[in-house]
Amino acid sequence: MNIYEEKDINISDSIFTPFLAMAIGLVLCTSIFVGFLQYWQNQETNISRESERLDFAVQQAARDLKIATDDAKRNVRMLAGTPPIQGILNARAESGSEQIANIKEAVWKDRLAQIFLSLAESNPDLLQIRLIDKTGMELVRINNGQGNPTRVKGNGLQDKSTRAYFAATLADLQDRVRFFGIDLNRERNEIETPHVAVMRVASKVYGRDAELLGVIVINTNMSRVIKRLTNVMEREKIFLMTDKTGAYLSHPDETKTFGRDLGTPYRLQKEYPAIGQLLQGAAHSAKGQSWSVQTDDYLARVARLHLSEELQHHSILIAAVAPMSLLMEQSIVMRDQIIVITLMLVVVATIIASILTRYMASPLQLLTKATSNLSMGAPLESLKVEGRKRRDEVGILLRSVYQMAASLEEKQERIKAILATAENPILSINKRGIIKDVNQATSSLFGYDREEMIGKNVSMLMNAYDRERHNDYLRRFASGGKPNIIGVGREVTAVRKDGSSVQVHLAVSKLRVKGETYYTGIMTDLTELQKVQTMKSEFVSKVSHELRTPLTSIKGSLGLVRSIMPGDLPEQPRKMLDIAYDNCDRLTHLVNDILDMEKIEAGKLTYDVEPIRIVDLLERNIRENRAYGRQYGVSLKLECHSQNLVVSADPYRIEQVMTNLISNAVKHSPDGGEVRIAAEREKDRLHISVTDHGKGIPAAFQEQVFGKFAQADNSGNRRTGGSGLGLAISKEIVRAHGGDISFETEEGVGTTFHVRLKVAETSALEIPEEQDTTTEPLRGIA
Ligand code: ADP
Repeated sequence: MNIYEEKDINISDSIFTPFLAMAIGLVLCTSIFVGFLQYWQNQETNISRESERLDFAVQQAARDLKIATDDAKRNVRMLAGTPPIQGILNARAESGSEQIANIKEAVWKDRLAQIFLSLAESNPDLLQIRLIDKTGMELVRINNGQGNPTRVKGNGLQDKSTRAYFAATLADLQDRVRFFGIDLNRERNEIETPHVAVMRVASKVYGRDAELLGVIVINTNMSRVIKRLTNVMEREKIFLMTDKTGAYLSHPDETKTFGRDLGTPYRLQKEYPAIGQLLQGAAHSAKGQSWSVQTDDYLARVARLHLSEELQHHSILIAAVAPMSLLMEQSIVMRDQIIVITLMLVVVATIIASILTRYMASPLQLLTKATSNLSMGAPLESLKVEGRKRRDEVGILLRSVYQMAASLEEKQERIKAILATAENPILSINKRGIIKDVNQATSSLFGYDREEMIGKNVSMLMNAYDRERHNDYLRRFASGGKPNIIGVGREVTAVRKDGSSVQVHLAVSKLRVKGETYYTGIMTDLTELQKVQTMKSEFVSKVSHELRTPLTSIKGSLGLVRSIMPGDLPEQPRKMLDIAYDNCDRLTHLVNDILDMEKIEAGKLTYDVEPIRIVDLLERNIRENRAYGRQYGVSLKLECHSQNLVVSADPYRIEQVMTNLISNAVKHSPDGGEVRIAAEREKDRLHISVTDHGKGIPAAFQEQVFGKFAQADNSGNRRTGGSGLGLAISKEIVRAHGGDISFETEEGVGTTFHVRLKVAETSALEIPEEQDTTTEPLRGIA
């Protein structure tokens, strides 16, 4: 596995996912919207198409019924006018023998029967054709079963005088062709089985002299007609036919038909109330008219017909009904198709969207991976991902990122090179003290390889004492302590890999990177410096020692010469002698200061501590410096409210400090100025201050005042001289006594140096407390 390999981006985090989701969502929404629109429209279309189909069936049925009734009526009319009718009447009217008359009548009847037979043959729907005598007796009868017409004779002829259609036809005064609706055929008053639906059409028959012969009745087999009509209906669609009361004449369930004949009428109103409403009122279907009825359960087309124009109360209702479930079935097929198409669209859209998104996102994903690998240290070349040459925004982005990374890497390389070639050891740690980076110089100084140091605690470079203190420091800092090493350089002793110690100067700076705190330490190896320093010190001290002895003898000789013959010398040589003596004095002073400083630095300066009454010391000091002050017209004033202030100190060294402070104050006072020396007790401390009214210490120089050989630019001051070591020595002496030295200064106003020393607790020289409360100054020396 590649060590830079980043974990693959989680699919839910990828920019690829929302793109894909959006594309799929869009296609899904559009497909569903279009699909539903299509679905509703389709349903509407289905309904209207079905309605048309039903209408067609209803129209067809209406036409067939009309044809059947019209045919029957026409046939009745035609038969009523045939010659045999007149023949039968004539035969009956003949006055001759009855036998001859009967023979003639029989001949005419035969002829009529022949006509009936040929009519029946040409029309298989004609079930019966009869001529009934006005007394109700059948005269000629043709039965037409199974397309095989036969004449019924003799006993087969029945008496129909009691049948309603016979009576009604005879009673009709208008001589119209009568229509008697559709009911079940009866033979000898019994309903014929299997049931046969018949429609009777009858007409009275007259001779030429308007003599009534009887009635011609044609029974049309409506079962066959109805069967044909029913057969038109496909699948679950049904054909219904009722009489004007709504009783079924045709129904898919045959047991419901002709209930009126059978005694238990089933009515349409009950089963199809919405269609049943059309039975009420007088509306009938004019030419080709039908009504549409739609409920939740079915769609129907309904027509109401008069089978006989003459007798309008005979009406028939026909309906073609399609159950809604059938229509829904088609819609469901359509819906399923829409769902399948939608799913296919979604799949296609997903594939297209994923190809497109991949085209867009894959270089970005590669870039993401490459940049995170880069952050883990992979080479810059890993950013040269596929798609960099593209001319679109993605290509521009990839190229920009590469250029940015390249320039960053260059910068980083530069910084690395600077660090690597820096002569000073540089080391960076985190806030837990773990070494994060080191440069070559650090490795060289400590003898560890870079890898040996990175990840370890920086205490590996410390001695046991510093390690403990460092751990304590980190602990304190972690619990909110204030860092006290930042920005402060200091000398520390570090430990090399081989265990040897090395003195380094350490400067620490703090930096924050991405919320993490780091400390960078820049070290300077002091080994060489210390060697040089030691050599220099040894040289200076050697020179100084070599100088001191001859200087002392020269100064002594000059002093002797001056004191022996002050008046014998002419002015010129005497002045030269004074100058030589002064210079000798200054040189002695300088040499002494240098030697003191060397002793201090070498830790060889020793202190002979004893209780000192500070007033005495200051008085002596002032006495000794008074001549120096007078030289410049500067007076010295001591203010001390307490005589019993005693400190444990080396009197010679404290005097050295005070002499230095007082001579500095005189040196920087204006002519005729005053230097005030004060001593007072502050709790357990003695506070001595030396105040002058000189020009003050320039702000730029204030930090170096206590440094070695530090002298401000005193070009305006004629009282020159001094080594620049006085205050450095004073500071070391005061520190060695456990005290401190500081100053306050204001340019143009003056300067006050403060020395604070510990008051000795018990002392033989201590004066009782009562005498120590004097408010007046005890001594004032001017
Ligand atoms: P020096 O021998 O030059 O006096 P010091 O160490 O005693 O050396 O003093 C260092 C420098 O501090 C002096 O050269 C002077 O510039 C400055 N200084 C010391 N005391 C005073 C003071 N009272 N007023 C102004 N400057 C002073």
